[in-house]
Parts: sequence; structure tokens; C-alpha cells
Amino acid sequence: MDTVLSNLGVGSGDVILEFSYLLAAIFFVIGLKRLSHPESARNGNLWAAGGMLLAIITTMIFHKTGAGEGIAITNIVIILVVIAIGSVIGAVIARRIKMTDMPQLVSVFNATGGAASALVALIEFSNPENESTLVTLLGLVIGIIAFSGSMIAYGKLDGKVGDIFAGFMKYLNLFILLIIVVLIVYITAGTAPFETQQLLVYLLLTIALIYGITFVLPIGGADMPVVISLLNSFTGIAAAMAGFIYQNQAMILGGIFVGSAGTILTILMCKAMNRSLLNVIIGSFGGGGEGIEHEAGVIKEVSASDAAVLLSYSQKVVIVPGYGLAVAQAQHVCNDLAKLLEEKDVEVKFAIHPVAGRMPGHMNVLLAEAEVPYEKLVEMDDINPDMPNTDVVVIIGANDVVNPAALDDPSSPIYGMPIIKAHEAKNVIVMKRGMGKGYAAIENYLFFADNTRMFFGSAKDSIQKLVSEIKNL
Ligand code: NDP
Repeated sequence: MDTVLSNLGVGSGDVILEFSYLLAAIFFVIGLKRLSHPESARNGNLWAAGGMLLAIITTMIFHKTGAGEGIAITNIVIILVVIAIGSVIGAVIARRIKMTDMPQLVSVFNATGGAASALVALIEFSNPENESTLVTLLGLVIGIIAFSGSMIAYGKLDGKVGDIFAGFMKYLNLFILLIIVVLIVYITAGTAPFETQQLLVYLLLTIALIYGITFVLPIGGADMPVVISLLNSFTGIAAAMAGFIYQNQAMILGGIFVGSAGTILTILMCKAMNRSLLNVIIGSFGGGGEGIEHEAGVIKEVSASDAAVLLSYSQKVVIVPGYGLAVAQAQHVCNDLAKLLEEKDVEVKFAIHPVAGRMPGHMNVLLAEAEVPYEKLVEMDDINPDMPNTDVVVIIGANDVVNPAALDDPSSPIYGMPIIKAHEAKNVIVMKRGMGKGYAAIENYLFFADNTRMFFGSAKDSIQKLVSEIKNL
């Protein structure tokens, strides 16, 4: 076997390496497939991580440098130390992070992926053996945009950075993009002396870093989910570019999987938000047309005992979970409430809005954690036609995703965003702590509607009170 391989100019180490990359790719595909369902998602993560571990180990053992030698022992030691430090930091952060801060953590992890790919491209630009200048520059630009854009997204999710809707931003962004394209074309043409090219690469890095900031800054609340998934796909594409530079199949495949998964998610998010991607990138959400006057009206409260009676004697109840459910960690008691009502022959469903919470799939993850049966989760488009026949909609810590201004107020920043039409139900109970606004920072006139009753308090306490009232009926 060895003789056949060496006649072909291939060492057995190369074959093992290629085979391990193929195996890693299969692991990635299985992992991705399993990630698409809440019940198997945890296990899917392990498959994908296993694929990555396999690729790292076989690369360290069997990879050969340009001179045909394996990786030097000192370098392997350095790689292992760095992996150990990174793993400890990652594990500690991931364990300590509060569930509600998970979206911020995902943004920071995404930023580091982009920065790593950009650094690879920056270093490899000066490597005389690297012949793929265009791919290197694209990896550099996309990676650094993913880095700075994700850091701004982190700031926005954490409430540290506000939206800047200045109209001139879109022209500024187009101008910066043009400079980036001109620089890439000029450097790739290779007409300038090498030292000048190196300086231009640093200039390109700086301008792309600024572009990442100015590109994400003006994007408003309701568009953030689309941008987050777009940045995620950028990181994957940048990693694939880094893979092309090293001609490493595992990196290329890993990057392409992340890039394409992110792109598919971006398209799905755009569809769910009824927006085109171009519209998200260069326009701001709603806010243009004539506003309609809403009477502020009067807030009506409901007590735990009245709410318990109303729910217990209903036939159809729909629960709409939102970001507040995650903040209060009320998913388990929420499931208890649903089970209790079902024991009383009430039909209970959960209405899932695609951007409820702070990350794509946030509500699915929370409710799966509480072991709410998957078939009880109904997508927005499927539950909306049923709303007029619903006796009570219980909104738990959701706000923007049930705001009717998205349907009828052209001056609203969320105008055009599809919502869960809770206002069409016979009765609406809203559980939240007070009259605090949602992520889009706008008033919600649903709270003043005739068929709405407010149940103030932190979601977990309120549901617990409701559960004990229902038990006492
Ligand atoms: P919102 O952010 O609109 O509203 C959440 C509500 O929860 C607040 O009004 C708050 O009111 C209430 N709340 C907070 N803490 C508690 C608590 N402990 N108990 C009860 N209620 C609480 O949430 P939605 O899920 O409706 O909408 C998501 C928003 O986030 C959308 O605008 C979306 O575009 C945006 N977004 C979504 C992302 C995603 O990928 N899913 C990513 C980035 C942004 P009060 O203070 O009165 O209690």
C-alpha cells in the first residue's frame, strides 16, 4: 500500500489527513442536521465539536509544511498551550454567563472568529509562498468587518450602544465600500512596490474595521436579528478564505458550512421580517410615513384569581413568550401552567415569533429546556389565523412582537414587521413588570386595548401566583 501511495507521490500520512478531514466534514454535517431540532441540538453540538477536534489532532500529527516536514515539536507545544488557554477561558465564560446574556456571548464569539481569520490573512499577505492575493484580501476584509460589526452588535444587545439612524450613514457606507473595493483591486493588481502594498493592506484593514462599525450602527431594533445572522455568515466565509490560503480542506469546509448556514438563516430572517436584505443593509426600518393617532387610553389590571378563572374556563389559550420570559427564567413554571390548564381540558399552544427574545430560535431553546413538547410550539404564520377563535392570549414578557403598530402605524420604526396578532383574540393578558418598553423602545397600544388586562410583576412570580390560584379553584 505504502509503495502504491509513494509511487503516486502521496505519503500515508497525507492519506490519513485527507481521510480525517472527510470524516470531520461528515461530523459537521451530522452536527448541523442535529442542530436543526431542539431535542437533538445539544448532541449536534458534540458531533460538530468532535469533528473539529479530530481535524485539529490529525493536522498536528500529519500536516506537512512547504518543505515537506511535519509541524515542529516547539510549535506543537505552543499550539497546545494556546488551545488550553482558549479552552479554559471559553469554558469559564460559557459556564458563568447568564442565559439572558447568551446572545451577547454569541456575538463576541462570532467577533473573535472574524478577527482570527483577518489575522491569518494579514500575516499570510507577507508570506512569499502565498499566491492567492485576492482571496487573502477578501478574507482580511470580511473577517475584520465580522469582528467590528459583531462587537457593535454585542454593544447593542447589551444596551451599551444605541441606534444611529442618520440618513447620511447610508451614503457614507457606500463611499467606504467603494474605497474598500478600489483598494482590493489596486493591491491585487500588484503594480505598487511590495512595501507600499503592505502599507495599503494596513490601510484596508483599518477602513474595513471602520466599515463594520458604520454598517451595523444605523441598523435598528427590528433588523438586528437579520444583521446578527449576516455577520455570522461573514465569519464563516472569512474562515473559508483562510482555509483557501492554507489549502486546508477542513478549514474550507468548516467555513463554508458556517457561511452557508448563516446565509440560509439570514434569508429566513429576512422572509420572516418581510424585508429584503438590501433593504435591511441600506434602509432603516419603518419610520417614514404618516403616523396614526393612538389614544393612550386606560390601563386595566387583572388579579391572579380573576386571571385563573378566565383561563380555567377557556377552551383555547395561546401563550406568547418573549424576551421577559428569558429574563425571568420562567420557562419551567410556564410549562407547569400549560400542563395544569390541559388537565382542565383547555387547549394550550405556544406562539413563536421568529425574532422573539434576543437571538434566532431563543424561545425554542428556552421552551425545549423546559421540556415543552415540540408540537405545542406553533410558528407565527400558522397561529395567526386562529387568533380570533382564541379565548385568551397570555403574553409573557413579549412586547415588540405583539405590537399592532407594526401593522397600522406607518410612522412606527417597526412598521412592516410581521407580528403575532394577539390583539385579535377575545381576551389578552399581558405579564410584565411595569410599562417598560421593548427592544425597539416604542409604546405598545395593545396594552391599552379594551380586550387587554395587565398582570404586573416579574414573569416567574406572576405565573407561580397564577398556578397556585388555578390549583385552588
Ligand atoms: P421585547 O424586547 O420587545 O420586550 C420584552 C419585554 O419584557 C419588555 O417590555 C419588559 O417590560 C418585559 N420584561 C423584562 N423583564 C421581565 C421580567 N422579569 N418579567 C416579565 N417581563 C419582563 O421582547 P420581544 O421578545 O417581544 O421582542 C424581541 C425584540 O428584540 C424585537 O424588537 C427584536 O427585533 C429584537 N431583537 C431580537 C433578536 C433575535 O434574534 N431574536 C436579536 C436582536 C434584537 P417591563 O420592563 O415592563 O417588564
